[in-house]
Amino acid sequence: MTLLNDNYLKLPGSYLFSTIAQRVAAYKQAHPQAQVISLGIGDVSRPLVPAVIEALHKASDEMGRAETFRGYGPEQGYAFLREAILKHDYLDRNIQLEADEIFVSDGAKSDVANFQELFDVSCKVALQDPVYPVYLDTNVMAGRTGIFENGHFGGIVYLPCTEENGFIPQLPKERVDLVYLCSPNNPTGAAMTRSELKKWVQWASDNNSIILYDSAYEAFISQPDVPHSIYEIPGAQKVAVEFRSFSKTAGFTGTRCAYTVVPKSLVVYDEGGKSHPLNALWLRRQTTKFNGVPYIVQRAAEAVFSPMGQAQIREVIGGYQQNARVILQALREAGLTAFGGVNAPYIWLKTPQGVDSWAFFDKLLQEACVVGTPGVGFGACGEGYFRLTAFNTPQLTQEAARRIAGLSF
Ligand code: PLP
Repeated sequence: MTLLNDNYLKLPGSYLFSTIAQRVAAYKQAHPQAQVISLGIGDVSRPLVPAVIEALHKASDEMGRAETFRGYGPEQGYAFLREAILKHDYLDRNIQLEADEIFVSDGAKSDVANFQELFDVSCKVALQDPVYPVYLDTNVMAGRTGIFENGHFGGIVYLPCTEENGFIPQLPKERVDLVYLCSPNNPTGAAMTRSELKKWVQWASDNNSIILYDSAYEAFISQPDVPHSIYEIPGAQKVAVEFRSFSKTAGFTGTRCAYTVVPKSLVVYDEGGKSHPLNALWLRRQTTKFNGVPYIVQRAAEAVFSPMGQAQIREVIGGYQQNARVILQALREAGLTAFGGVNAPYIWLKTPQGVDSWAFFDKLLQEACVVGTPGVGFGACGEGYFRLTAFNTPQLTQEAARRIAGLSF
């Protein structure tokens, strides 16, 4: 008899997106003429930009010639990409880091999922509610929680993000070892300002805690008081790991490239109180369990930083930002209260009094043929909210907005 890791049994089935798909399928069957528009997707719709495609072609040709063929590359990424990331995302923003503090990977999802391996199972974890589920589920799998009851896992410190606190997580009342912060946020679209983030860095430093900072949506920041990197805050290199991705920045959701920054000054402790740099531990982990991102993909990611690549991705992001404005405007015309959409591709709307997240889903589907995501699917504090995304095409977004604006609640 082979025993399983019974922490997996603690996970409630992830029914959110399958329930959505089932309800949409049933609606389409009953209304075959209906043109259903999805504003529920967390995936991009615009293709890769020409600068990236050109780099992919060139690198593919290199792979077909004996003189330029590459096999295994460095697990942590080729120097050309780490240097490009360092210069563009950090040095040019006056953040002093070194290339060996940057680890290229195949996704922020896998990195945020895997990073918790470096910490003891007894570590206390705090996370936002509502939350990107990967942070929570991977800690459940690792055995860092109790069972799931009344919408919460035992042992986790939930940081409610509500209208009252502007969907910004407040400092926990008890000490925790690790906190996951996601800014700009999925699903609420809220982004932490410099002064809000400063409080967290100070708190982490006072409590000897570590911040796992996910800024996968950094490229959508439009307000000047929202930092693009947690390392813009003095002292953050001693308390924070930063996760970034090319997925939403440059349409790499299907191409796969991301990176994680682990400053060398960030340490963890053994039982004897001796400190160990997290950077060396993550390097050990990655070189053991990961064999690197394909050369052609890293060349494609490098092209994102060229002047042409930057101009082209800014145009694409600008299109999504315009979609967000169109959705926000329509929601307000329909008399709804909506948040986010300014520094993020996500709009978080408040469902009308007495209408829960799923009832709102049904109403939107039946009366506007528009699909979104019930907020409760992201955590108990998401009840009474609903997520729309700005990732569809301008045409379909405008059509969905037109239908929403005409609804009455
Ligand atoms: N982090 C957040 C907050 C996300 O919403 C997502 C994707 O939806 C990811 C990470 C995953 O990024 P990647 O495509 O790089 O794995």
